[in-house]
Amino acid sequence: MAELDLAAFSPELLARYDRPGPRYTSYPTAPQFSEDFGEEAYRKRLAGAARRPDEPLSMYVHVPFCEHRCTYCGCNVVISPHRGPEVRYLDAVERELDLLAEALGPRRTLDQLHWGGGTPTYLSPEQCTRLFAAITSRFPPGERAEVALEIDPCVTTAEHLEVLAGLGFNRVSLGLQDLDPRVQEAVERIQPMELTRAQVERARALGFSSVNVDLIYGLPHQTAEGFRETVRRVVAELAPDRVACFSYAHVPWVKPHQRRLEGLPRAEGWEKFRIFLTAADEFLAAGYRFIGFDHFARPDDALSRALDEGGIHRNFMGYTVMPATDQVGVGPTSIGDVDGAFAANERNLVRWERAVEAGHLPVERGLVRTPEDELRGEVIRSIICTLGVRWERIRERFGVDPVAHFAEALAALEPLAGDGLVELRPDGLAVTPLGRFFLRNICMPFDAHLDDSPAAGTRYSRTV
Ligand code: SF4
Repeated sequence: MAELDLAAFSPELLARYDRPGPRYTSYPTAPQFSEDFGEEAYRKRLAGAARRPDEPLSMYVHVPFCEHRCTYCGCNVVISPHRGPEVRYLDAVERELDLLAEALGPRRTLDQLHWGGGTPTYLSPEQCTRLFAAITSRFPPGERAEVALEIDPCVTTAEHLEVLAGLGFNRVSLGLQDLDPRVQEAVERIQPMELTRAQVERARALGFSSVNVDLIYGLPHQTAEGFRETVRRVVAELAPDRVACFSYAHVPWVKPHQRRLEGLPRAEGWEKFRIFLTAADEFLAAGYRFIGFDHFARPDDALSRALDEGGIHRNFMGYTVMPATDQVGVGPTSIGDVDGAFAANERNLVRWERAVEAGHLPVERGLVRTPEDELRGEVIRSIICTLGVRWERIRERFGVDPVAHFAEALAALEPLAGDGLVELRPDGLAVTPLGRFFLRNICMPFDAHLDDSPAAGTRYSRTV
């Protein structure tokens, strides 16, 4: 299949769809979570999950520390150039794992373990070993578990990678952003290609089966041609199995440190989108498949194969081929999805530590999904992961007449069908190759909680 005709894009098309919208790592999305959902509600959900001991389980562990703040950063981090705060954090993680293990009873085997941050390799190799042992002594990974972590090449050593490979990590994701020295200087993250290349080579030699690279477009000084050169070098010199090419979200009202980027030239609108299209053009020319949103994968990668076989899933960590009926979060800001409810941990490190030290599951907000949420969530997941929805499946699973139930959403999709983004058929809908670039827009009519008010611009990033 010709994956994409870049000539099909135009500034007019982009202008019609460039608006604030959710990324749908969950449905309902995080702004809907409420403080009415607390520890007691979460305990009930964990008890429900404990009654299904044979179903797949995944765990996300948030390590919130970084030595230094990159100016584009949109993550929840604690900047600490000097080591020390991570010791109390590790003690608190052990306590939180105890609380979760107790609540989940026999439901322990992990199908997926992911460390994100912040920078997980802010921890020393010994501390990584301690954290891994704390997790796996309570939640052992299954034989075919995906064990992954994000690393910042600037602080990750050869010893780190050796220790992590020895522990059983099999996937690694490296932040790279852009190779242009001017861009790196502007975002205050100097990361020579030689360093990244050496780590990718070492990870492969150590047996990591998948290497992912994260790029960002829309940063200061970036141009389409400059970014094309970055992508060419990434493909030629790193050959990553997967690539996430994220859009920079400039939200200085939430992340005041991003004000340091103001006054620097930064592409927006069509110019910014053109940078992404240029990257897509390079990846597709190099044989990568476009998975959706901002993800590309080599044709032999499990994600590419799953694209054709309908085996892609999506959770708070993004796209995955590992299905998990429940996901628990550990650490500040982590989010769990357990027994039909979302549970978001306390965001503040100190408040999170105090809560777990006092023996509480540190839940700050959450949401119990209604049957209608489950139905709409399934449609949205299906659009994102299988690039279409078959009404028969929805009818069988939820007992509704989808065409009548979603009449309003289908009417709202007609202009998108007119623009060639989606095909509306009697038996369902199908996302076109062009529509893969507008998945969020295709999902939004099915989102019953969508905030369409002018305030939406401060809640969501832009859709394209
Ligand atoms: S390394 Fe990542 S998490 Fe840490 S400051 Fe930079 S962008 Fe943020």
